[in-house]
Amino acid sequence: MVISTRKAIWGYDATMTGIGMKFDYITIHETGHEWFGNSITSKDIADMWIHEGFTTYSESVFVECRFGYDEAMKYINGQRNSVSNDKPVIGIFGVNKHGSGDMYYKGALMLNTLRHIINDDAKWWAMILKYSETFRKKIIDTETVVEFFNKESGMNLTPVFNQYLRYKDIPVLELRMCKGLLCSRWKTDVKDFAMPVDVMVDGKQIRLYPTTTGWEEKFLKDVDSTDDVEVMTKKFFIKVEKT
Ligand SMILES: [Zn+2]
Repeated sequence: MVISTRKAIWGYDATMTGIGMKFDYITIHETGHEWFGNSITSKDIADMWIHEGFTTYSESVFVECRFGYDEAMKYINGQRNSVSNDKPVIGIFGVNKHGSGDMYYKGALMLNTLRHIINDDAKWWAMILKYSETFRKKIIDTETVVEFFNKESGMNLTPVFNQYLRYKDIPVLELRMCKGLLCSRWKTDVKDFAMPVDVMVDGKQIRLYPTTTGWEEKFLKDVDSTDDVEVMTKKFFIKVEKT
């Protein structure tokens, strides 16, 4: 592809993964805004994550197209340390007040998490394409985005969007052993939070379905301790507390 008519800035490696050295990140980012920002525009600046979250995510989509899935996961997870969790991503409506600067990286990492919740890449990419076509040249808000992804996925993703966008903290996955079973539960601000999450046990990927209402119990052969369980934090932007 044609990178730019201007001099490309190679080597802007904000994610510190080395991948930023391979392309001109700002050209990709600003091109992404043709879809997310210029075509699809948020009604109020409080919902500016609709521009910046999706556009930052588009950088890792570019990386995946050029260099593959593993590099894209490295690139997007290189943004984790730049998330400050200082205040909610969504700002204050009606007073021209945007939310936290986390709208960029946390917004992108939330979308990466949604991709892995849906767990069907063909469906995910079709949804992203349909999203950009459905709301082409339209002015929308967060509720419209959430409604679209709920309908297209057939899942209730509202609690997930609410935790990442309306509270400052990300979900915490608590893991512990109870009577030989692996027990998991979410600690979140959203009361009815539920989200599947993948873990690796002995080289095998297993999906857990924790909630906030009680411990989900799962019998896993060869798991004697939570140290035997590796949570797939490259796919899910969460914190993990093992006891
Ligand atoms: Zn931007």
